[in-house]
Amino acid sequence: MSNLKLLSKILRLKGMKITRFWFANQDRELHLSVKPYKTGCRCPQCGRRSKIVSPYTTLRQWEDLTLMGLKVFLWYSPKEVRCSVHGRVQEEIPWASAFARVTYRLEWRISSLCQIMTQKAAAMILCMASSTLSNLLHRIITRTRSSHRIRGLVTLGVDEISYCKGRKFATIVYDLDRSKVLWVGQGKGRKTIDRFFNEALDEDRKSRIRWASCDMSTAYINAIKHHCPNASLVIDRFHVVKALNGAVDAVRKEQWRALDTTGRKAIKGLRWLLSLHSDNRRKGHTRFLNELRKGNRRIHRAWVLKDEFEHFWTYKNKRCAEKFLKRWITAVLRSRIPTLKTFARTMRKHFKNITAFIDRNLTNAVAEGLNRIIKIVKNRASGFRNLESFTDLIFLTVGDLDIPAQIASDLCTL
Ligand SMILES: [Zn+2]
Repeated sequence: MSNLKLLSKILRLKGMKITRFWFANQDRELHLSVKPYKTGCRCPQCGRRSKIVSPYTTLRQWEDLTLMGLKVFLWYSPKEVRCSVHGRVQEEIPWASAFARVTYRLEWRISSLCQIMTQKAAAMILCMASSTLSNLLHRIITRTRSSHRIRGLVTLGVDEISYCKGRKFATIVYDLDRSKVLWVGQGKGRKTIDRFFNEALDEDRKSRIRWASCDMSTAYINAIKHHCPNASLVIDRFHVVKALNGAVDAVRKEQWRALDTTGRKAIKGLRWLLSLHSDNRRKGHTRFLNELRKGNRRIHRAWVLKDEFEHFWTYKNKRCAEKFLKRWITAVLRSRIPTLKTFARTMRKHFKNITAFIDRNLTNAVAEGLNRIIKIVKNRASGFRNLESFTDLIFLTVGDLDIPAQIASDLCTL
């Protein structure tokens, strides 16, 4: 076996022939002059067989996977071809995508390593600078997602997430059936969510959406109503419970401010206890809360109303649930607790979309789970410079497109 053949076997190069090799940079780099095996030249954009215009253009270099810590580079001068659609272009290269400076194999390695570790760690393994890897990753994700279309979306979820230490917001759209992130956009509000519907979905796909879940923000609700005519909107349970807990806590705060030291002692440590679901409470907790009836009637009243509201989620029959909610709202409006009254008015405003929960127990629980993963990714990277790099990692870890698998399908053609 010749040296070149042996080298080709060790490097597992398919679809190309090594014509020459040399070492450089004090034997730390292995350079290979290669030539693709193929019949005819094709356009990289449409794959049409095209006529060669000029046989030689400039010599190009691609970085490949490292071999025992040795950096490997491929060299080849691609021919220039004339495509009937795209004009004069450089021929298609079987080991790398057009304009890429690295091979498919290295792209696959980068994306699969970044799925499970920090970019810094991946850069160390691949012997490259962190910034280089970050740029490469961005190009890979942008390329693989550019031709991607959202398919089979039936249940949609919308939520927002903060980044940049909570100073900036991004809107995230989820496919709740498949538990994947579909889209990430800068900002929150109507403009951002409109961008998703206009960019990512056509009219046919919008009309196929049957269910949608979001928080109580009017921007999201109006956008969903406008763009998805066939979708039933369900207000996310998590956000309703959060808003109710916030209203109850406001009562506690207001009392805390009004009370003197002895009075404050009686309601100390209540914040956490008030937000607890009755299933998670121990006997001691309930006894403590019941004693409030004598200690602080106002907080006790707020807590009782909050506890009653829990029943709503357990209803199976919609009409009973509606009846219950109506009664509950009336009781709250009579309670003379302003923050709870505001909450009850919000419930009344979104009555239809809240009781829709009984038809389908749809919540953003899946989205909350995904957000947790996103938070882990965010903390692992200890923050991001911009939304772009944050979005890259969201798509890589919880996106609806398996990016390494996309590159692997290109690899098969080698
Ligand atoms: Zn073409």
